[in-house]
Amino acid sequence: MDFFILVYLPQVGMSRPYLFFDMQLHNSYYQLQGLAITDICNQFGTPLYVYDANTIVAQLKTLQTTFAESHVKVKYAAKALTNISVLKLLKKNGSGIDVVSVNEARLALHAGFDPKDIMFTSNSVGIDEIAEAVDLGVYINLDNLSILEQFGKKYGSSYPCCVRLNPSIMAGGNLKISTGHSQSKFGIPVEQMDQIKALVTHYNIVINGLHIHTGSEIKDVDVFMKMADILFDLAVDFTHVKFLDFGGGFKVAYKKEDAVTDMPKLGQRLNTAFADFNQKHNRNLELWIEPGKFIVSEAGYLFTKVNIVKKNPTITFLGVDSGLNHLIRPMMYDAYHEIVNVSNPTGKEQTYTVVGNICETDTLGADRSLNEVREGDILAFKNGGAYGFSMASTYNSRFLPAEVLVINGEAKLIRQRTTFEDLLHGQIDVI
Ligand SMILES: *Cc1c(COP(=O)(O)O)cnc(C)c1O
Repeated sequence: MDFFILVYLPQVGMSRPYLFFDMQLHNSYYQLQGLAITDICNQFGTPLYVYDANTIVAQLKTLQTTFAESHVKVKYAAKALTNISVLKLLKKNGSGIDVVSVNEARLALHAGFDPKDIMFTSNSVGIDEIAEAVDLGVYINLDNLSILEQFGKKYGSSYPCCVRLNPSIMAGGNLKISTGHSQSKFGIPVEQMDQIKALVTHYNIVINGLHIHTGSEIKDVDVFMKMADILFDLAVDFTHVKFLDFGGGFKVAYKKEDAVTDMPKLGQRLNTAFADFNQKHNRNLELWIEPGKFIVSEAGYLFTKVNIVKKNPTITFLGVDSGLNHLIRPMMYDAYHEIVNVSNPTGKEQTYTVVGNICETDTLGADRSLNEVREGDILAFKNGGAYGFSMASTYNSRFLPAEVLVINGEAKLIRQRTTFEDLLHGQIDVI
């Protein structure tokens, strides 16, 4: 027990004042739900992924409340963070789930999700994997004409499917994370609607939903509304359609000054558009969304230890006990993750470049102003909940970090650090 346990926990489920749930500086200690970060790191070791259950649940509730009028179905995009405990926490709080491989569907079933709450959004997969997902009884979302035809041949009208459309909208500003523009591999271009319709007629395919996911980090409400216009137009012709799925991509802040999706405004406009459409066309369409980042990004942190302070003539490098093997977003997407020196909150600010211990250039943050850093200090990488652990690898034969969930004021280990035996597992020595 620790003094900080006295700082009482915020209520889960209230609308979320931004910093209220964040890692807090309290009496010169950083803490999460009343637990000192340095204690958590001492207990479980570093590098360590830590997730705050309160933030995860609060973010989910924000979406449920924002679109309550439209009876929204939130399908959490599992690929952002697939730990079973996180999946169970979301399920317990009323979330469904979006999966992108049949194995993610199996993980979702393992976590207790009902098949009818699982949406399988595939791309570039063969009919075999689709058939496995059909056998599991989950919703199927198809993203190209070839697989739609194969699906039609195999199932006819006996199993419905949703189609993923590419609306030729550039969203999010970054080509690598934008998926709905005309050069993207994702979705069936809306220009090929006649071919979709021809296949549907020929094979009696039952289209139960229309889907657009234009990519990550969409802050512009107008982009969502453009998607809505396209989906509403098409829904008029597809009379079996029961839901319109707007994908994920709600933007969260990586920097304090970042613009984020204006949820109240989006809620108001989308709810109104839905109600108008349903009334005008006498339909009862459901609104589905598939947020990943929005739910888990800000809830997570990667905590690392500074092994080396290296003062070169022009740059001071901080070498930490992690790298692009554990957090690939900075090198892969030029993503900015805020870094905080948890161990020395009152130290004089200096400029550092934070790098990993991988034999690659793995800059995690360049030219950052941090409170003075000493060897042995703990650095926090913020926004570590989404696409952190789930994209981690054992490159350089380093272990995967452990994962901890802070829930009800307790830090619980939810995944062990991998071991040397794990590195050898599955290898066959033939020499
Ligand atoms: C990745 C993905 C999402 C989630 O995107 P976020 O930016 O994390 O919200 C939703 N739907 C599909 C189909 C995806 O591939």
